[in-house]
Amino acid sequence: MKGVGPQRADLLRKELGIFTFGDLLEHYPFRHIDRTKINLISELATQIDFSTSDTVYAQVMGRLMSFEIVGQRAGKRLIAQLKDKTGILELTWFQGISWVQKQLEVGQSYLVFGRVTYYNGQPQLVHPELEVLTAEIQTGKNFLEPVYSTTEKLRVRGLGGRQIGKLTQLLMGMVHEKDIPENLPDPVLNKLKLINRFQACRQIHFPQTPAEYNEAVKRLKFEEFFIAQLRMNLLRLKRHRYSKGVVFDKVGDYFNGFYKNHLPFALTTAQKRVIKEIRTDTARGRQMNRLLQGDVGSGKTIVAVLVMLLAIDNNYQACLMAPTEILAQQHYKTISSLLEKTGVPVKLLTGSTKAAERKKILKELEEGHVKILIGTHAIIEDVVKFNNLGIVIIDEQHRFGVAQRAKLWEKARIPPHVLVMTATPIPRTLAMTAYGDLDYSVIDELPPGRKPITTVHRYESQRSRVMDFIRAEIDKGRQAYIIFPLIEESAKLDYENLMHGYENVKTYFPEPKYWISMVHGRQPADQKKLNMKRFVDHDTQIMVSTTVIEVGVDVPNASVMVIESAEKFGLSQLHQLRGRVGRGAEKSYCVLLSGTKLGNDARERIRIMTSTNNGFEIAEKDLELRGPGDIEGTKQSGVLNFKLASIVQDRPILELARNMVSEMVENDPDLNSAENLQTKVFLQRQKGHITWSKIS
Ligand code: ADP
Ligand code: MG
Repeated sequence: MKGVGPQRADLLRKELGIFTFGDLLEHYPFRHIDRTKINLISELATQIDFSTSDTVYAQVMGRLMSFEIVGQRAGKRLIAQLKDKTGILELTWFQGISWVQKQLEVGQSYLVFGRVTYYNGQPQLVHPELEVLTAEIQTGKNFLEPVYSTTEKLRVRGLGGRQIGKLTQLLMGMVHEKDIPENLPDPVLNKLKLINRFQACRQIHFPQTPAEYNEAVKRLKFEEFFIAQLRMNLLRLKRHRYSKGVVFDKVGDYFNGFYKNHLPFALTTAQKRVIKEIRTDTARGRQMNRLLQGDVGSGKTIVAVLVMLLAIDNNYQACLMAPTEILAQQHYKTISSLLEKTGVPVKLLTGSTKAAERKKILKELEEGHVKILIGTHAIIEDVVKFNNLGIVIIDEQHRFGVAQRAKLWEKARIPPHVLVMTATPIPRTLAMTAYGDLDYSVIDELPPGRKPITTVHRYESQRSRVMDFIRAEIDKGRQAYIIFPLIEESAKLDYENLMHGYENVKTYFPEPKYWISMVHGRQPADQKKLNMKRFVDHDTQIMVSTTVIEVGVDVPNASVMVIESAEKFGLSQLHQLRGRVGRGAEKSYCVLLSGTKLGNDARERIRIMTSTNNGFEIAEKDLELRGPGDIEGTKQSGVLNFKLASIVQDRPILELARNMVSEMVENDPDLNSAENLQTKVFLQRQKGHITWSKIS
């Protein structure tokens, strides 16, 4: 392309990831400027009001009076004076000095654009974009001029936000409608009154009016959602059609025997429904890839147990992976006691399993004697070999990396079924976008008899009353959690706060009447384990801890959850923590302690927590407050990195796209009809797409 030599091409690749013409066209402008507006230099001198505007951009037309290089080494800079009829403006460059210098000619008129900064009270433009004033520019153009994001390195090489627009403009002049063919079916375009793809491309870069720009944005956002959704649906369809899976078609003695004789409670309707969904899915001969969502305490463990028994009835092994050692141990304890009378061999394998024991387990596993293996990530270490692994259950899915899950897949000739369980409710929008290729089950019902947890907000100043309340509960025979934040960025300070907090709790609850467990990430594993065990066994009444206990820990006798510095926690984390109580028969409480100075978001989070116990509602709010970028596990995935669309703000468009895709795939799963052909061709041409969400 004219204007892009090897050096610039290299920079565009490195700085913006622009490799092709297509990439350049998809580097959308972040705003447009009205080319007709020219600022007078005198205006800039008086316009200063930092309280109302944090960044002031200016476009100035003037003649170059002089320029010089001043300073040494790091202080070296190029300073130029630009004059218009109202005054003189200083332009400064710290980088790319020799390149800029070549562009400057005293006496020449320029159009400069940049952010106004003030140095000694005088306005100046640092690293402004600069172009020689031509007759064409002076008469002005009748479109809105696009401004693109760029980097400092590109800017000093003459590829500032507006110069990139020059390239785009050049490129738009070179491409024809056939180069940007339509990729949505015509009936969809007509129905939604969307402009075509070529037109949209032109209008997003060079709209004549704001209305044209908006038309383009609408079309392109829809396209982003539509294509992403379509790809997911097709992937799922393909898996349903072609993937081979082990067959669980027998419901035998293990499942039935346990169900009839050892089930400690009647299953909820939701649990039964989910088990049925899984049974149907695993009996078909294709690999199951299922996400199971259920709020904290909804009873996912028992579902996992029954599904594992189903695997064993069909002569397969099962494994259950948990994100933390504590949780793996707890699962092991729960499950081995549930299965005690069934004679099913259950083993635990974690990072702290002793070498001899480990060796024994590995051998038994490979020979097929161990039927259920429970563990942490250690399970997927390469040395772990199964005899005939039939199903993998992953608890708290989003803590597992995609690559780790892929490893599991290699552990059997026919890929095992995969059930991913998560208690962090994923908002519906996110689920349909990010996990669209998975099958999906929900436990939307809590076991009977649960009393809703009462959540209150208390300030630091009310601490002693909170402690009195805990004491009253403990004296009734209950237990309490006191959770401190531990945030990576402020780890040292948080750690000190935790220790200080622990000492403080001790003064309220002196031994030997009261005993306190403390668990945090810096403890050696055995100490952690011991402290945890003492709390589980009710040897201690209070658990002081960081969020390491966040996931899964089950102590039904605990009825109070105090969260210190609650303002520091995110919504889903608060909800997870709260889920540690309210698991037994007793009425439970959650106390959010905070300082008095709260930001708006923190205040809102606390308000939501005190007003609802519903995890899905909380997840939706969380998405609204934080945006999708922050949702665990999705950031690196890229699936939510739409260029224009936002799953929060553009939810109606997303739902529309999803519905239209479902209809399309249902009617024409192979996209063979004439109207779907252009979409099919587009999908086939797009190479290198990573199907990250394929979890197994
Ligand atoms: P989670 O979905 O958070 O993993 P668990 O499986 O740990 O939930 O279950 C929470 C608690 O509820 C456990 O103590 C479990 O024994 C109990 N539970 C699960 N299902 C039922 C049920 N159908 N009836 C009564 N209690 C149940
Ligand atoms: Mg659980």
